[in-house]
Amino acid sequence: MSRLVVVSNRVTKVQQGGAQAGGLAVGLLGALEEMGGVWFGWSGNVTEDPSDEPRMSTSGGIAYATLDLSPEDYDEYYNGFSNSMLWPLFHYRQDLMEFHLSSYQGYRRANARFAKALKGLLEPDDLVWVHDYHMIPLAEELRRLGVRNKMGFFLHTPFPSHQVLVVLPQHREIVSALSAYDVVGFQSSTDLRTFSHYIRFETSGVFLDERHLIRAFRRTFHANKFPIGIDTENIEAMAQSPDNAVRVERLVRSLRGRKLIIGVDRLDYSKGIVQRLHAFELLLARNPDWHNKVVFLQIAPPTREDVAHYGEIRHLLETEAGRINGEYAEFDWVPIRYLNRGFTRQTLSGFFRQACIGLVTPLRDGMNLVAKEYVAAQNSADPGVLVLSRFAGAAEQLTNALIVNPYDEERVAATLGRALEMTLKERQGRWRATMDVIRRHDIVAWRKNFLRVLNRAPFTA
Ligand code: ADP
Repeated sequence: MSRLVVVSNRVTKVQQGGAQAGGLAVGLLGALEEMGGVWFGWSGNVTEDPSDEPRMSTSGGIAYATLDLSPEDYDEYYNGFSNSMLWPLFHYRQDLMEFHLSSYQGYRRANARFAKALKGLLEPDDLVWVHDYHMIPLAEELRRLGVRNKMGFFLHTPFPSHQVLVVLPQHREIVSALSAYDVVGFQSSTDLRTFSHYIRFETSGVFLDERHLIRAFRRTFHANKFPIGIDTENIEAMAQSPDNAVRVERLVRSLRGRKLIIGVDRLDYSKGIVQRLHAFELLLARNPDWHNKVVFLQIAPPTREDVAHYGEIRHLLETEAGRINGEYAEFDWVPIRYLNRGFTRQTLSGFFRQACIGLVTPLRDGMNLVAKEYVAAQNSADPGVLVLSRFAGAAEQLTNALIVNPYDEERVAATLGRALEMTLKERQGRWRATMDVIRRHDIVAWRKNFLRVLNRAPFTA
């Protein structure tokens, strides 16, 4: 049987199923345990003159190979092209894009260096599965070095529409690099469609079987959607874990019978947290009856603090949360609890279970796993309501959530009102239907599906 080589910018060293393991890590570690292989990527360290030999280690029976980044690569490849160019562009924020040719060159240089280091680890039958936008050129660089293995790529972010993508001066190089993979996976039909549009209108590529088999840039590859799932059973169990008892009880006690709305996101401009605060403010403005009866808990730990726009959004959120609380708080009630820190997934699951609304309103998101985790954490006898942005990949699957346009703050506020009043019967009906989808399309189904298609490579007309 083929080994699996997982490649991602950051590797996650955790025990499978451990409380700290993210859903993706749990899924991929499970595959690595089954198939054997190695997880390859950046160590997370930045060092002067880093070695080009990967550092090998094992943890929990899984082999890891990591490289450090040089300060230049950290600036140009990671903070620069990946997080200040591709991330905003792929989330339809061309206004936040900061283009420097040196960043693109750093991105190519770092990918070439990763490819060289990885080549020495590969065996002829290995399946190579590359994750996310940091590593798009990896297969092209490996093929240049003569590597013929089956290689797949999965994009965790959205793929932007054709006219947004062409804002990137190197759009052609980026899509051409994708064609070096045998399988290119997207989160949703929307992303697959925007990718297909690009191929149709911007290249001389052809579709060999209507939708999935593409001949472009002198390569034949399979493009499809593979919506990522969560480790559903794990979240269900964590949400009810006795280890949460003390914290959950403190939360419940602090609410004093008020209803809880919860938002949990990395502090990122793509998550729509500012608009979400405004929608909550409008709920209070339009419905004095809800004053002192509802609390909005927003958990948003800072990320990517070396990128300027992240400092700006943080400042804006602090200002807005403070302003709204200043306007509405009573001596015994603060409507918004805004926390700039992370919690373990176990604690978060326990908090989700206490919230009667999960408010998940990104302006753009590849999938949004929080939406699925919120639903999986609910008590089936008295489930909460998911209010979900139509611009999250999850909205394509979770059609029984209350779907909103996050820019339409009045409607989001009205939807919050509706969710707060929803009957138990309707909540249960929606939850069951949503949970059914989440269970069927969990993280294990996702990776098995992707690897099944990758195993069929190479593709010919
Ligand atoms: P993204 O990958 O853009 O951060 P997702 O919603 O798809 O967004 O995935 C986020 C993951 O990180 C989820 O598994 C979620 O539980 C976890 N997470 C998000 N916010 C926090 C937080 N404040 N503390 C701990 N974990 C978090």
